[in-house]
Amino acid sequence: MKAAVLKETSPGERRVALVPDAVSRLRPAGIDMLVESGAGDGAWLSDAAYADAGASIVSAAEIYRTADVILTVTRPPSVSELRAGQAVIGMLAPLADPEFAAALAARGVTVISLDGLPRTLSRAQPMDALTSQSNVAGYKAVLVAAGEFGRFFPLLITAAGTARPAKVLVLGTGVAGLQAIATARRLGAVVSGYDIRPTSKDEVTSLGATFVELTSVGSAAGEGGYARELTAEERQAQQEELTGHIARQDVVITTAQVPGRKPPLLVTEDAIKAMAPGSVIVDMAASALGGNVTGSVPGETSVTGNGVTIVGAENLAATVPTAASAAYSRNISAMLLHLTRDGALAIDTSDEIQAGVVIAHDGRVVHEGVASLLQPAQPQSGQPQSGQPQSAQPQSAQPESAEGGPGVDGPSN
Ligand code: NAD
Repeated sequence: MKAAVLKETSPGERRVALVPDAVSRLRPAGIDMLVESGAGDGAWLSDAAYADAGASIVSAAEIYRTADVILTVTRPPSVSELRAGQAVIGMLAPLADPEFAAALAARGVTVISLDGLPRTLSRAQPMDALTSQSNVAGYKAVLVAAGEFGRFFPLLITAAGTARPAKVLVLGTGVAGLQAIATARRLGAVVSGYDIRPTSKDEVTSLGATFVELTSVGSAAGEGGYARELTAEERQAQQEELTGHIARQDVVITTAQVPGRKPPLLVTEDAIKAMAPGSVIVDMAASALGGNVTGSVPGETSVTGNGVTIVGAENLAATVPTAASAAYSRNISAMLLHLTRDGALAIDTSDEIQAGVVIAHDGRVVHEGVASLLQPAQPQSGQPQSGQPQSAQPQSAQPESAEGGPGVDGPSN
């Protein structure tokens, strides 16, 4: 089987799907690697390093023409060059854009998306790219905040005076939030964290941070260990009570997401106005749909009238490209090996992992959650079943209405 790595072409994307180390580990499974010349440049991985590991360095055109499987971080640059029988494995966000999956299915391309992985299965953990990339992003969010902040993070006692440590609040303590807490603690800040998942208090305190407990809103468990969406009344009470906590912070990092929904607004205009000049907010949930912070725009940094810097984080994992690629490479290699039998892809959606990640196969969208978004009208009775033919035009690509289960939307950072 020929598997191939294309150079990523999305703006700002510096990661590469596979690092040289992985090339030799795939060979015993009968997988020969093709790597587009320059694919690793953004992560400081040279063509020579891939060639030394046993890969063939080729053009993109040769990959489209000859590869059986194409490994990507995000979308392959050219859909029109993909051919029937080829497979694409990457983080393809099929619930956010089901038409993309449908377009590939129509070409006969098998679509496998790592962001559909059933993350709570322990045997799936080596393939969990959402977790590995969120870890990198959570780390970088703290460095971005520290870079914008006009003071030190640690307590510093010097002959020139004493600097008090920065106070950092992390809102949303999933994978990215917990890594942000750990990183801010390593930099010496006084850190607190807040989340509505029932297990989050123990996770936050085990990292040496203080857990913020609200009196107005308790824990709100959803499916699969995730949070549920709060009601309008709960949201308002949460925003109002958080305002008092936010006002006392130097730095706020927000990461809160509910899979398949618009990110919850946690830092309101009133909360921003209550912060001191020089404070910094990094919104990791900033997206085209809105984020956790009023006024945050992905990829933009602004300063409010009262001197609060708001960073709308965008694809932070891509800004730590070598570490992010190394971790992603382990995830995608594990997935490729899981899917490979006797030197070929063996698609079998009765396998729990494959049922989550295989989005399209044999010319059809086979993933139930994605297929339901492509229905022309509400079904009269029951929901579409996995594996049914899906020839309909897309009905909606709005993540707010996605029902495909946790994690399928893909990471925002
Ligand atoms: P995520 O990126 O979807 O969300 C980040 C955090 O935002 C979550 O912790 C969520 O509870 C929180 N959040 C959502 N709405 C909120 C609100 N209104 N107020 C405050 N916080 C809010 O989540 P993630 O980081 O991808 O994963 C979250 C959790 O999923 C993990 O911590 C873990 O429990 C579970 N998970 C389990 C495994 C596993 O079992 N192997 C792997 C990955 C994730």
